[in-house]
Amino acid sequence: MTEPILPRLRPEIAALAPYRQGKQAGPDAFKLSSNENPFEPLPSVLEALQGTTPINRYPDATATRLRERLAARHGVAVDEVHVASGSVAILYQLVQAAASAGDEVVYAWRSFEAYPGLVLVAGATGVEVPLIESDDLAQTGRHDLGAMADAITDRTRAVIVCTPNNPTGPIVTSAEFAAFVERVPSDVLIILDEAYAEFVTDDRAVDGLGERVFDAHPNVVVLRTFSKAYGLAGLRVGYAIGHAKVLDAARSTGIPLSVTSAAEIAAIASLDAEAELLERVNVLVGRRASLVDGLRAQGWAVPESQSNFVWLPTGDRTDEVAQVFRDADIIVRPFSGDGIRISVGEHESVEKVLQVTRSVVAPLQSQGRESR
Ligand SMILES: *Cc1c(COP(=O)(O)O)cnc(C)c1O
Repeated sequence: MTEPILPRLRPEIAALAPYRQGKQAGPDAFKLSSNENPFEPLPSVLEALQGTTPINRYPDATATRLRERLAARHGVAVDEVHVASGSVAILYQLVQAAASAGDEVVYAWRSFEAYPGLVLVAGATGVEVPLIESDDLAQTGRHDLGAMADAITDRTRAVIVCTPNNPTGPIVTSAEFAAFVERVPSDVLIILDEAYAEFVTDDRAVDGLGERVFDAHPNVVVLRTFSKAYGLAGLRVGYAIGHAKVLDAARSTGIPLSVTSAAEIAAIASLDAEAELLERVNVLVGRRASLVDGLRAQGWAVPESQSNFVWLPTGDRTDEVAQVFRDADIIVRPFSGDGIRISVGEHESVEKVLQVTRSVVAPLQSQGRESR
């Protein structure tokens, strides 16, 4: 058999590992790998979706009703809101709009898996600034914003700050973010990725929307999503709030008409049911505490989590521990050589996770002592 001749591709794109979704969970498995909301959709949201979406028609190109609703909710103008098919789409749009070949994009690492790829697709260069590593569990896994500010050069076009940080869980405080914004040149875009904002209970945390950082600093854009706390991951809808001109650039790079009518309707119905949804968030926050406390009691150095997942620092034994989870029918997100991210899921999943971690903690600890 002769190899077919394939079209020439950008070498840096051809070299990328294609996206492979985590293993699909079997009927009895707990899927704790994607930080999804474990609750069934609210009846009122399902009802809003029933029969109302005209699927033979294109959606409203700019999701006006949802943008109006979000603008009123956050006290901004409609043009200061941008909606797209997930906030990941907005990350792509903004980076594409700000950076290309020869430009740099600074972000913390390890952070959201999508960042390196979206920078590369834009043709820009990612500058990864290590997270704080510390024996102090209140500090470890946090953004080192001082080092991130130091990493900015005249080639930097964008900085991404993820709070709470995926996959380690800690927040950036409001004071830290304010000091950081003062240090970043005002012509460098700052993307504040707050995908897990609703799960934050620490009142020191930055709240980009509540604090309206973008008023004094039009280079700051805040990202939020309906995927996590609102449980609409499957419908794909997220939003950005910031200066209208900056968001116009995102609108220009985005694929038109990508927010479906169903996504817009479900997002509006979710805002109508916000109080009910936030009660569920509270339940998940309680489960998060059970997980973090349970894991720490077993001796795991779990960083402070303010999100709907916890980080298990499994280091060199990550693949092995991930296999133990798989064998127990729990799907988690391993990052080989580093650690495992475990989403806060169903009530019964908490004890099941703690059983698995209990079974591996002793051998891991003795190995840790030898290798350090
Ligand atoms: C999940 C997530 C997002 C957004 O997801 P969408 O489903 O595309 O809205 C953005 N940033 C981070 C850090 C996330 O974990």
